[in-house]
Amino acid sequence: MKWIIRVNTRTGDIVRQEATEEEMHWGGRLLISKFLIREVPPSCDPLGRYNKLIIAPGLLGDTFITTTGKFSIGGKSPLTRGVKESDVGGEAGKKIARLGIKAIVLEDLPEKKTPKVLFVNSKGVRFSEFANLKGKYVSETIQLLREEFGREVGIICIGPAGEMTMGGAGVAVTDANDIQIRYAARGGLGAVMGAKGVKAIVVDDSEAIAPKMYDESLLREVSRTLTQALLEDPKTENRHKFGTPAILMIANELGLLPTRNFSLGQFDKAEEISGERIAEVIADRGGEGRSGTPCTRGCVISCSNVFPDPSGKKTVASIQYENIVLLGANCGIGNLDDIAELNRLCNEVGVDTIETGAAIGVAMEAGVIPFGDAEGAKDLIRQIGRGTYLGRILGNGVVITGRLFGVRRIPAIKGQAIPGYDPRALKGNGVTYTTSPMGADHTAGNAFETARTINPLGKEGQIENSRRLQIRAAILDTMGLCLFTRPPFVKNPELFALFLKGRYGWDVNYEDVQKMGIETLETEREFNRRAGVSEEYFDIPEFMREEPLPPTNAVYDISMEEMRRIWEVQIPKDIF
Ligand code: SF4
Repeated sequence: MKWIIRVNTRTGDIVRQEATEEEMHWGGRLLISKFLIREVPPSCDPLGRYNKLIIAPGLLGDTFITTTGKFSIGGKSPLTRGVKESDVGGEAGKKIARLGIKAIVLEDLPEKKTPKVLFVNSKGVRFSEFANLKGKYVSETIQLLREEFGREVGIICIGPAGEMTMGGAGVAVTDANDIQIRYAARGGLGAVMGAKGVKAIVVDDSEAIAPKMYDESLLREVSRTLTQALLEDPKTENRHKFGTPAILMIANELGLLPTRNFSLGQFDKAEEISGERIAEVIADRGGEGRSGTPCTRGCVISCSNVFPDPSGKKTVASIQYENIVLLGANCGIGNLDDIAELNRLCNEVGVDTIETGAAIGVAMEAGVIPFGDAEGAKDLIRQIGRGTYLGRILGNGVVITGRLFGVRRIPAIKGQAIPGYDPRALKGNGVTYTTSPMGADHTAGNAFETARTINPLGKEGQIENSRRLQIRAAILDTMGLCLFTRPPFVKNPELFALFLKGRYGWDVNYEDVQKMGIETLETEREFNRRAGVSEEYFDIPEFMREEPLPPTNAVYDISMEEMRRIWEVQIPKDIF
């Protein structure tokens, strides 16, 4: 991967540059942080001409290593007003990488907002108007693009929420068979794409020349080691059977499951929306329902699913932990068919389920509709798609919704909704949400995985733990590996160095890889500091320091001063 494609969305000019020696060492999240700090004025309007939307496969994106179809989309976030990187599965990332493209960068702003499509193949890049896509839902957009470009292309697109530049808008990516729609959901990157007038990016790698690996036999050997270790890990089987919702009952038991706008940590209908229940429903209904499907080709974990309606017809794919918690428990909704439909509507309109579920929870607290009103919630999401006044409020996220309705309990940090782990009962995530350059984003360093070894209600060890998890996430996002591949790397971090050696011939060890993760975080922090949204000045929401969370009755009690220590924490050079 050596090409950087720059598209000026105002003039239509396209420039293809060869990556410099330094840029060749950047990928995924690290590349996004470096491009942002070098090219985007930190104080710029996230929806203005100086922000850029950057799409970048990870450093291992063009290899055959499991889960490396994951890729990064980033820019300055309209929600946090700081750096945002959101990683996503699907097909397009691998295709971009196979075309030898290191990054696609969308720049400037169009003079008129007729939807445009960027088509990329081995012969070049075309940027053209597609007026018929205006306002289309995501599945209609995909269908129309399939008619134009065929079944084999990878598609990255936005829904009407992105076109209307709503802060809760995400970027959708197709999978191999248009069964799942995957999302780079967080931070409002769909709004950045919409501001650039780009409705879709279509990637055709049918004539791509297979990339040359530096040492293919080494790469194959290490790849086999990773795959084997993943297959032997008990977490893999659990994820394969029950998907990410496998953890829902544990989260409920620990009292950290956001319920009824973060007022409770347990949901009385948790069992009905658990991973186990989902697997049962899928098996009972049959038809198009599936458990254990991959979101990107070649993933040996395959934690996704296809959730069917009672007749066996697909409602949504994939129904995941965060979606179920924020659209379900957090809104007092305990029926899986309702949650699946809410999830489907979010995917169609093109909004982040976390941001939207949190915004609806706040609207419920304000009395717009009652808690548990699934039909009312569906109507609210449809209103986002239509761009009604109420829809525009909700579509712009939980903070705007809370402010406009005068709700004090707004579950957000730095402008972005808190995901499915209440930080009062999982203190490590409070540290991550507050100190990570990504804001309230569990994928930046999720302490749930250590909840059995580090007391989630206590303070002890949380700062060090979050620091380690944040570095870990930055490394995986830079490599283009799924976060769920971590167990083998914990046992043997040198696998990273072997991968880089096999792919590029780099003479590195794990210490160098760890430095790469730290460099990513430091670059992001510096961008945020210059943007005036430094991590040092954002706290957990005030209500979480005051309101005990039943049933543990925990409050968030790690002070800002204590959390600021995180940047001095040294993680041993051999610990992943
Ligand atoms: S483990 Fe799950 S999220 Fe990760 S790449 Fe595989 S299917 Fe996608």
